[in-house]
Amino acid sequence: MKLRVNPIACEGHGLCAELLPELIGLDDWGYPIVDTGDVPRDLEPMARRAVAACPTLALAVERTSAGPPARSRRREAHAR
Ligand code: SF4
Repeated sequence: MKLRVNPIACEGHGLCAELLPELIGLDDWGYPIVDTGDVPRDLEPMARRAVAACPTLALAVERTSAGPPARSRRREAHAR
């Protein structure tokens, strides 16, 4: 899992950096500087919380290739 910010949608509230200071800092104007590496497993719940709290939906998580194999993902999709 990786964190991504849509710089167009972000309004620099800084809430994400408050919730996840381990991976998100703020620049001089209050816009997030996001660690682009994989989110450590122990921080995934907080990363999801920061995504859910973003008031402009600018923050998102994306799966990385380290996720389950494609066959498992297909099975998950059918289970929904
Ligand atoms: S919470 Fe959302 S809008 Fe606010 S700084 Fe973070 S990404 Fe930008």
